[in-house]
Amino acid sequence: MTCREAIDVLADYVDGTMPADLAAELERHLAGCDPCRAYLATYRTTRALVSAAAAVEMPDEMKTRLRRFLAAQQRR
Ligand SMILES: [Zn+2]
Repeated sequence: MTCREAIDVLADYVDGTMPADLAAELERHLAGCDPCRAYLATYRTTRALVSAAAAVEMPDEMKTRLRRFLAAQQRR
């Protein structure tokens, strides 16, 4: 699994709507990938704040910003 693939499915992972075999594959990727773990932590925090505030989906603009955050992590 690549980082891009991991990020594409992270929302389902956090929601718990992901098939178990895919979740296992994602967890294997996360175990060896600091940027994706950081992304997951940020996503969870943001999602908790968003759902507490309005119970709405994360806006596209927020996803774009999180992707940029990940890209910046990978450049180090
Ligand atoms: Zn990754």
